[in-house]
Amino acid sequence: MKLIIDEKQIESVLSEAAPSTAEVSAIISKAREKKGLELDEAVALLDGADDSTLFSAAAAVKKEIYGKRLVLFAPLYLSSYCVNDCAYCGFHASNPSPRKKLSHDEIVAQVRVLESMGHKRLLLEAGEHPDNSIDYVTEAMKTIYSTKGPKGQSIRRLNVNIAATTKENYARLKEAGIGTYQLFQETYHRATYGKLHCGPKADYERQLTALDRAFEAGIEDVGIGALFGLYDWRFEVLALIQHAQYLEQKHGVGPHTISVPRFRPAPSVGLQPTAFSDSDFLRAIAVLRLSVPYTGMILSTRESPSLRSKAFELGISQASAASVTEPGGYGKAATSTAQFETADHRSLDEVVLALCSRGLLPSFCTACYRSNRTGCDFMELAKKGAIQDLCTPNAALTFKEYLLDHASIETRTQGEALLEKAVRKVQGKTGEELCRRLKRLEEGERDLFF
Ligand code: SAM
Ligand code: SF4
Repeated sequence: MKLIIDEKQIESVLSEAAPSTAEVSAIISKAREKKGLELDEAVALLDGADDSTLFSAAAAVKKEIYGKRLVLFAPLYLSSYCVNDCAYCGFHASNPSPRKKLSHDEIVAQVRVLESMGHKRLLLEAGEHPDNSIDYVTEAMKTIYSTKGPKGQSIRRLNVNIAATTKENYARLKEAGIGTYQLFQETYHRATYGKLHCGPKADYERQLTALDRAFEAGIEDVGIGALFGLYDWRFEVLALIQHAQYLEQKHGVGPHTISVPRFRPAPSVGLQPTAFSDSDFLRAIAVLRLSVPYTGMILSTRESPSLRSKAFELGISQASAASVTEPGGYGKAATSTAQFETADHRSLDEVVLALCSRGLLPSFCTACYRSNRTGCDFMELAKKGAIQDLCTPNAALTFKEYLLDHASIETRTQGEALLEKAVRKVQGKTGEELCRRLKRLEEGERDLFF
C-alpha cells in the first residue's frame, strides 16, 4: 500500500543535484498550465528558480484561478484546556497558567463582538480535553449559527480545528453544519513529531489518518497544514504536497485548503524555531501555489502586515484578520493566556482598507458551502475556471454588505471605488444580476449570493 508520507522519497528528492536553468524554465512552463507539480519539480523550483521567475509564475496562477478576491475570517477559541503537552503551544498541559472554557453565554457574547466587526466566517479552535467533548463543540456550533446581531447579522460558515478524533465524532461535526475540518500535522517528520508531542496527540498515525476518517464520515472539505519552524521547511513543503496528492488519489478530491502557520513565541514555551527566513517563507508559498493550484491557501495573523500583503499576491486565498488567540479574548484587553503571539494587530477594518489600497477585493463569501458546492463539485468548478465567475460576484455582494454595515468612512469611500471597478468586469447576465442584487442590498436586503 502507498504510504501517506514517504519520508525516504522526500529525503531522496531533497538531495537531488540543483536543476539546470533549462530544467527550471521547463518546470515553470508546466506550472503555468495549472496542472500541478511532482515532488522533484517542486524541489527544483524551491532550490533553483530565482525569486522573480518563481513569484511571477505563482502570482499569475493565483490571479487566473482566484482573481482579485481574498476571503477573510477569524478564529474563535472555545477552550484552552488541553491534555497534550505539545512543546510549541501555550496551551500545553504543563503550563500552570489558568485555563478558560467558554460557557454558552460567553460564546454568544464573543460571536456578537465578531459579528459587529463584520465577520461571517469563523474557525473554531479548542485544546484536546474530556471537557471539550464533541457534545460541547457541536452545541457551540448550534449556538453560534443561531446567534444573530441587531441587524440580523450572522455567522454563516463555521470551519473547525479541533484535535484528531473518531469517524463517529466527525459525523457529528458534519451533522452540526461544519464547513472545512482543518487539522495540521504540525511536522510531517516522524522522529521530530515524536520528540515534540506528549499525550494522545503523540500518536503520529492518529494525526495523519484523521482526515481519512473525516472524509469517511462525510465531511467533504478538509484542510491540511504544517507548523513551519519545527523541522526543515523544505521537507514540510514536500510532505504537504505528498499529503495533498494522497488525499486526491484516495478520496477523489484533494484538500480544500493548505494552511502555512509559522511557529511563534508562546507563553511557557522555551522551544526555539528552526531557521526559516521571510524570503524562504514566500518561496514556500509560491511553490505550494504552483504545485497544488486549485487548493485554497490560508495565512494567519502569525505574520506581519507587510509580509502578509506580499504573500496575498503569491498564492494565499484566505486570511484571518483581527484575531485573538485566547478564549473570551474578543472585546477585551489582551492577557498572558493566549495560545501564541500574533504579529498582525490591525482591526478588521484596517485589514480591509489595506486590501482595497492594493486592489484586492475583500470577501466574506460563504456561498459554495451553502449551495452544496463542496468537495469534488467545488474542485470541478475550480478547474473549469468557474469559481472565479462565482467568486467575484459573491465577493462583491458580501463586501457590499460589509461596506454598508461595518466600514469606517475611509474604507467605505475606497471600498466603493474598488467595488465599482470589480463589478464593471463582471460581464453578461451575471453582471446585470449582480447590479440588481447590489441595489437590493442598498435597499436593506441581506445575504444574497450566487
Ligand atoms: N488542539 C488542536 C490540535 O492541536 O490539533 C486544535 C488546534 S490548536 C488550537 C491550533 C494550532 O495552533 C495547532 O495545530 C498548531 O499548529 C498551532 N500552534 C500551536 N502553538 C503555536 C505557536 N506557538 N505558534 C504558532 N502556531 C501554534
Ligand atoms: Fe493542545 Fe492543540 Fe496546543 Fe497541542 S497544539 S497543546 S493539542 S491546543
